[in-house]
This record gives sequence, structure tokens and C-alpha cells, in this order.
Amino acid sequence: MIVVIKSNASPEKRTQLIKWLKSMGLGVHESAGEFQTVLGLIGDTSRVDMDLIESLDIVDSVKRVSETFKCVNRKFHPEDTVVSVGDLKIGGGNFVLIAGPCSVESETQIVEIAKAVKASGASLLRGGAFKPRTSPYDFQGLKGEGLELLKVARQETGLPIVTEIMNLKDLPLFEDIDVLQVGARNMQNFDLLKELGTLHKPILLKRGLANTLKELLMSAEYIMASGNEQVILCERGIRTYSDYLRNTLDLAAVPMLHELSHLPVIVDPSHATGIARMVPPMSLAAAACGADGLIIEVHNDPAHALCDGAQSLTPAAFDALAKKVDSVRKAVS
Ligand code: PEP
Ligand code: MN
Repeated sequence: MIVVIKSNASPEKRTQLIKWLKSMGLGVHESAGEFQTVLGLIGDTSRVDMDLIESLDIVDSVKRVSETFKCVNRKFHPEDTVVSVGDLKIGGGNFVLIAGPCSVESETQIVEIAKAVKASGASLLRGGAFKPRTSPYDFQGLKGEGLELLKVARQETGLPIVTEIMNLKDLPLFEDIDVLQVGARNMQNFDLLKELGTLHKPILLKRGLANTLKELLMSAEYIMASGNEQVILCERGIRTYSDYLRNTLDLAAVPMLHELSHLPVIVDPSHATGIARMVPPMSLAAAACGADGLIIEVHNDPAHALCDGAQSLTPAAFDALAKKVDSVRKAVS
């Protein structure tokens, strides 16, 4: 249920109303926008007397929200959420380029790539230390050492880092990581989501390989319901009938997620297509349809990458793409 407060309501009366709603055992999610304040009521609202609330002089309107996702719902929070990573902002018109290798392989590799992508306009560095691989015989990532190397690259460039957490037991190692990624394969690892919900740092939540948008939003709801409001959604392609591409990039997910939710939505064209030459056109399309950012795999030697070389751009290709993304954003703005 949402309660829209009149713009001239006094803060005292608003606080009184919130206290009263909480005394009925409800969670109250307050979203104070420029023009109106919206209270999102969470919990069993079946016993709440809508007419009584609507009759209060500070209340503009009361509506039931039929969707099962509440905290992520735009109806609860009409304005775009802007996620902050230090001084960097994501969402609400703030577009970011996140770039880096699939996996951290060595200090030279990650520092060289970090410097290159920064020079081309990336504002966050990606790189996997814990890698979810289909085969147990493939490179599994440098794990703790990989995280340390990411910190070295951050030190060298000033770029905040984004890296994937696969298992809750590794959480202490991620204390000094700027943005924690939940990968596609873990999108419905509810214990992980609940725990990440207790942190005070941004979570990049990727859509599962075969998950619907509603399921993605419900996973984000797990994080937010546990108290962490800094969630970034990521469309990274889903399994369909595509034979020549790794996945199918569901670009319509971007405007639809923006309609349903206030959270920033970014696109990963690398895992969506699996082919480096497909990454630029899909990046431009994502920028054109309103994505709040792109996460792109870049490697200084794609032919010898330990993971996902075929979909990795060279630093030069990334540089050319970054300029075009900028032009597309200007053209559609
Ligand atoms: C990744 O970003 O390195 C990754 C494994 O992505 P996804 O979870 O989308 O497959
Ligand atoms: Mn990868």
C-alpha cells in the first residue's frame, strides 16, 4: 500500500503518522521527493483502514500496490535512485562505463588494463577474482590474491572496483571492495542476497540466465528488504534459441525495469553476446534505450586471456567505443 502525503504537510504530522503506522506492525519506506513524499507500507496491510488514512488532512491519496515487490517498486519511490560509489553517481541521468577483464590474472595485466580503460573514460574497474566457471577444470580465479591485485589497480588509478562474490564465507575478504557483484548464477542465492542486504555498499545484481524480470526484481527486493537500498540491476542476456550468440540481450528489459523500478539499470553486452565484435553495436543500442551504464570486458591480450577472451575488447576498441557511446547518448538526450 502507498500513502501519498500532501506537499504542505508539516513534518511533525508526518512523523506522527509514520509512528502510528509502525505501531500497527508495518514497515514504512519513506521516499521524500522534490514534489511529494510517498510512504510505502510493507507487511500485512489487510487490516489497514484505507478510508481512515485517506481522511487524514495531511494525506493526498492511498493506493494498494498489487505487485509483490515493494521496496524496488517505482510506486514506492517515484524518483530514480542514484547509487553513490564515493563521489561517483550511478542512475538518475548519471551514466557510467565499467570496464576491465573477465578475470584478474596478474598485477601487470590488471594495472595495465585499469590505466587504459580509465584513459578512455571508464569510471569503475571490473575484474573477477572468484570465477563461476561451467567446468571445474577451467581457471577459477586468483581468489583472495585477485582481490589484492584489484586494490593495487585502484591505488594506481583511483578507479573504484567491482568484483563478484560467489560465497558468503568469503565476505570478510570483500570488506574493502567498492561494489559487490552478484553474478547471474547466484541471482537467486537468497541467503547471499539477504546477507548483502545488511551491508552498506552498492550491490551490482545480474539477471540470471533463465530468469524473468519479476524474479530479478524479487531478488533485488531481498537485498533492499534487508536494509541495503544501493542496488544496481544488470541485464546480461538470457538463454533463448540463439545459436550464434552466447545469450540473447533483452534490451527491452531496460525501459521496462525503469518503468517498474527506481533502481539504476546497466547492460553487460559482453556476456550477452560472447563475441567481441558484437559488443560495440549492442553497447550503442543499450545507451540509446536509456541504460544507466555499461559493464564491458576489456583485455590487453584477448587471445591469451584466461577467461572470456573471445568477448573481450582490446583497449583500443574500447576507446573507440567509449567515444561512440558518448555521441549516442548526446543524440538521444
Ligand atoms: C562476469 O561478470 O564475469 C560474469 C561471470 O558474469 P555473469 O554472472 O553475467 O555470467
Ligand atoms: Mn566473463
